[in-house]
Parts: sequence; structure tokens; C-alpha cells
Amino acid sequence: MQDITTLIDFDQQHLWHPYSSIVDLQPVWPVNSARGVRIQLADGRELIDGMASWWCAIHGYNHPTLNQALAQQMEQMAHVMFGGLTHEPAVELGRRLVALTPEPLDKVFFSDSGSVAVEVAIKMALQYWQAREQRQKHRLLSLRKGYHGDTFGAMSVCDPVTGMHELFSGLLPSQLFAPAPSCAFDAPWDPTDITALTELMEQHHQELAAVILEPIVQGAGGMRFYHPEYLRQVRKLCDHYEVLWIADEIATGFGRSGRLFACEHARVSPDILCLGKAMTGGYLSLAATLTNTTVAETLCGGAAGCFMHGPTFMANPLACAVSVASIDLLLDSPWQQRVATIEAQLNAELAPLRQHPAVADVRVLGAIGVVEMREPVDLRSLQPRLVEQGVWLRPFGHLIYVMPAFVIAADELGRITRAIAHVLADT
Ligand code: PMP
Repeated sequence: MQDITTLIDFDQQHLWHPYSSIVDLQPVWPVNSARGVRIQLADGRELIDGMASWWCAIHGYNHPTLNQALAQQMEQMAHVMFGGLTHEPAVELGRRLVALTPEPLDKVFFSDSGSVAVEVAIKMALQYWQAREQRQKHRLLSLRKGYHGDTFGAMSVCDPVTGMHELFSGLLPSQLFAPAPSCAFDAPWDPTDITALTELMEQHHQELAAVILEPIVQGAGGMRFYHPEYLRQVRKLCDHYEVLWIADEIATGFGRSGRLFACEHARVSPDILCLGKAMTGGYLSLAATLTNTTVAETLCGGAAGCFMHGPTFMANPLACAVSVASIDLLLDSPWQQRVATIEAQLNAELAPLRQHPAVADVRVLGAIGVVEMREPVDLRSLQPRLVEQGVWLRPFGHLIYVMPAFVIAADELGRITRAIAHVLADT
């Protein structure tokens, strides 16, 4: 192992990190290994992880079952192209996704990352309307404070203010935006919450291919939780106005919100569903876009005669094998109880922070705990202080939030909430 200074020096001179500047450098902490919910830093310190590596590592790191699945698959083959070939890991994963996701989603397109899954979903919607000879239906209706990824189609449906619309103005497809839902998840339903979206659909349905949104939890755009009735209304409006509905469950899929998929809170099914992140338990990058038979058959009946997408690493066997193992591990575990226990502890331990003058709101849903500050957080000073407290969190915008592995123990989660309280006490 090279010394820590050499490693950091090369990193800072040559490597980009997410949303980082190569000029105005931010600190990075070298990691040697990770096991369970503990990250071992190269300098010997151990951090309790509250991020599950951005929603992914739901079983914790270095899980023996997932390691074994990967090792076994490696002995067979790491990869073969999916054009003209198939394999058991892809079929087994497809079988599980079709069985577990809301009916009638039964056609699966594998891709490499969440953003690509969103591009695929958008392309499916556009090809569907082209096949129905309604090319004028080419726009998307999205929600403010939404986040769907960093590729161009995905960026075009991210929040127009906090997203990158200004930076790329004139270069992104022009989409429509409804206000962010404001009726909270557990508040009495307020029918006016859907009024603006209803009006937009009334006015624009002739040019709309699809509505795209993150069900129940708006994640990277603000960590907001909204009412399930909103989704039921979206389903009804999409049926009424003949507009497809794309649900982006890349962040919420596989249990995070307390249900296997967030759409289940409203007992509704989208026409197109995007999955990623926790699908491989945080081991490898893999995503899927599912649709129903009607949409799939229609879009394949158009001029192209097929769906026009085919990534090189489509259905990578290693990623599919570890994903199958991760899904089985999840379903064989008492995950609902674990998520409910995390939810109760986050509620109990974060609630007192509401009294802090710098805190605007505290909210919890499933295994997601959010402390929203009145002012934007200063990551540069906050993150080292959290590391000093022995925890790994990655605050952004106005938010300090926790999204742990489902296997986190009560004392470990307690250390994270105490660390948040500690850094707030200094604020
Ligand atoms: N959709 C949602 C809801 C997400 O949270 C994310 C990632 N944070 C994406 C799409 C993009 O996924 P990826 O980073 O794997 O491209």
C-alpha cells in the first residue's frame, strides 16, 4: 500500500470526484476496506457509515453471501455480450424483477446505471408514441425538486432551478414542470396539491409523452416525502389523458421507504419503472427499466421494428449474479422490521433537533432521516467534523441526512444521530 500522502496527491491532481472541481479542491478520505456498516480509513480510523454509499449498500459492505455469489459467477464468466447471447444470472434476475415489481410490468431492459435507465425509459415513451403515429407527443412532464440523473435526457427532467438547466440552457429538451408536491406523506390529503399538475395535463396532454417522477420520496432534489394519494391521482390523470407514467424508483426501490417499492404505498403501477442503486446491494453498477406488454409490443411495432438501445455491458453476468443474491438476501431477511426499527429510532433521536434554531425541519420515512437546515450547510467544514465524530455522512444543500444499511445496529445508528446533534450544538 502506497503512503497516504502519495495517494491523496495523485488523486487531487488527476481524479475527478462527484460534482467536484479540479481547481478548488475538496478533501477526500482514503479508504482501505469496509465491512458491515464500518468504513476503515487508511489512517486507521473507523467510520460508521450512514450513507450506504448513496442508497446502495443495503446489506452493509463485504457481505459473505454477496462475495460468494460474485466469486462463483467469476469462475463461470465475468461478461459476455447480450446481443444474441443470454445467461442464467440475467434470466434469474429478470424472473425476480417481474415477480416482485407491481403488475403488469413484465418486460425488462438492463443497463449500466440509473441515469441510463432513465434515458431508456424516456426513449421507450418516445418510441411508443412514434409507433402510434403521434410524434407530437414528445415532451415530458416532471416535478420541481425532482432528480433523475446527470445525462442529458435525465437532466432535462431534473428540477429546473437546482438542476443544470441554466448551465445547459438551450441544449436540453424543453420539458414541463409541475410544482413539487407539498402535502406531506402522513398529513391528511389536500386535494389542491394535485391542481397544478392537473391543469398542466389538461393544457398539454396532446404534446405529452409521459409524466416522470420519483414516487413518495423526492431524493437528491431535496429529500422530501409526499402523500401516496398524489400518485393515485397521477395514475388516474395519465389514464384519462393518455399519457404514460414513468416511476423512477432508482433511489426508493428495494425497501428504503418501508415498502419494497415506493409505488406500493399508493397501490399503483406505472407504465415504465426505473430501478438501480440497491439492486446489486451496492456491489456493482446495474440498472433496469421495466414496462408492460402493451407498451413494449407497441413500441416494437413502430418504424424501427425494435427498441433502439443496447449497451455494451447490458446484463453483465457479475452484476446480475450479485443482484440475484442481494434480492434473495433481502427477501429472506426481516427487512420490513429492520426498516421500521430504524425509522422509529431516527424519529426518536432526531426529533429533539427540531428545537435547534438553525434547523428548519426534521423528517423521517422508512430508513431515511433528514435534518433540514435553515441555511445551506458548509460541507467543507461540516464533513471533517463528522469524520472526527467517527461517522460518515455526506450532507448537501440544506440537508444533513442519514440513509444507513438496513443491518445497522441500534448503537451504531445512535452514534450517527449523536454525531449530528454534536455538530449542530457547535453551530
Ligand atoms: N434517479 C434517481 C431518483 C436517483 O436518485 C439517481 C442517483 N442519485 C439517479 C436517477 C441516477 O442514477 P446514477 O447515479 O446511477 O446514474
